[in-house]
Amino acid sequence: TLQNQRSEALYKEALEHIVGGVNSPSRSFKAVGGGAPVFMKRGQGAYFWDEDGNRYIDYLAAYGPIILGHAHPHVTAAICRAAENGTLYGTPTELEIEFARMLKEATPSLDKVRFVNSGTEAVMSTIRVARAYTGRNKIIKFSGCYHGHSDLVLVAAGSGPSTLGIPDSAGIPVSIAHEVITVPYNDLGALDEALARWGQDVAAVMVEPIVGNFGMVMPKPGFLEGLCAAARRNGSLVIYDEVITAFRFHYGTVQTFDGLPSGTDLAAIEPDLTALGKIIGGGLPIGAYGGRKDIMAQVAPLGPAYQAGTMAGNPASISAGIACLQVLQEPGTYARLDQLGAALEAGLADAARKHGIALTINRIRGALSTHFCDHPVTNYEEAQQTDGEQFAQFFRLMLEQGICLAPSKYEAWFTTLAHTEEDIAVTIEAAGRAFAAMAQ
Ligand code: PMP
Repeated sequence: TLQNQRSEALYKEALEHIVGGVNSPSRSFKAVGGGAPVFMKRGQGAYFWDEDGNRYIDYLAAYGPIILGHAHPHVTAAICRAAENGTLYGTPTELEIEFARMLKEATPSLDKVRFVNSGTEAVMSTIRVARAYTGRNKIIKFSGCYHGHSDLVLVAAGSGPSTLGIPDSAGIPVSIAHEVITVPYNDLGALDEALARWGQDVAAVMVEPIVGNFGMVMPKPGFLEGLCAAARRNGSLVIYDEVITAFRFHYGTVQTFDGLPSGTDLAAIEPDLTALGKIIGGGLPIGAYGGRKDIMAQVAPLGPAYQAGTMAGNPASISAGIACLQVLQEPGTYARLDQLGAALEAGLADAARKHGIALTINRIRGALSTHFCDHPVTNYEEAQQTDGEQFAQFFRLMLEQGICLAPSKYEAWFTTLAHTEEDIAVTIEAAGRAFAAMAQ
């Protein structure tokens, strides 16, 4: 088995200085039985090397941004160039225009954009703008969708679809949670019920149009059309949180994706506002939001909704983002990610079947999620019912064989352009051994 003394020692030291030893709770191994997380030292292509010298095939991809693989030379060169010219100006730059143009070309609903520093900020800002535009305060969100850690969206469902939210974290006033209504994903009936009860106060319906936060979950046929129609009838805006999904499945967003359930009318699912992040930063911190011109005109300095940022639009993040999208624009990139994802899905499904392990795999192109259960996963409630103990066991068995997954049963696996067929084959063999051990 794998030696990890240095990770263990570093974890002890980290606990002395950094709260919980980690700078984001998702990095701790709390959800998979605890203990020291692996401390990584280097990333190159599809691989990580940890502090003890072990090599891993990486499917975490830093929770999504690293779609080209680690240290892609085109991105690295862009970051170095930016660093040589000064990383932060506090003035506008031409780079920001170039990048805004690229995003708009890929997603026409973005009449106007604004760059920020994280997905959290992007989402938080869309909510402020929607409130400013509509003069209403409440938002409707869907259970299990994660929209960052701002007060406004760290809210769970009350006891039924037509009750107001409860804080999902200490430190969030109940008064703020009461401005949020949470309903099950893929459930238009619950959305209608919530709108019937609270509609006149609802500024926006916020959704991950394809979910990446309780596994990868497709909208059911008609769900996004129904959501947009219901919101519009009610005078509420539609906000898509595309922080995970933008540039994930094709060169564009879910709202421009031809891989949605057949019959989806893209014109009928266009949102008013969109939040972006992750991939568009090429591995550096970034977020962006944008949408209809008249709505975005609410934002300062044009309008009364204040939103700002010292680091926003910094040349390093923008340069990395442009470089990343340039690589993604090359022909065949998404077909390649899809091919790797398909091979991984087929191999994992086969191995699970062979060892009698119940496994539901949700895959959308290069992103997939593995759910230890024998039912479909189409909403958070179903994702919660999957076997967390089995996932924890699988996670550790894979890690010991040099396969790095996210330490949570709700997170996806991401293939990158750096993965090879050989990496996939090695991963499937490791999964076979893991399933065999689990079946004992
Ligand atoms: N929205 C979605 C859909 C996300 O998945 C995330 C992060 N996982 C966020 C928002 C928050 O982004 P960040 O961590 O960059 O603040």
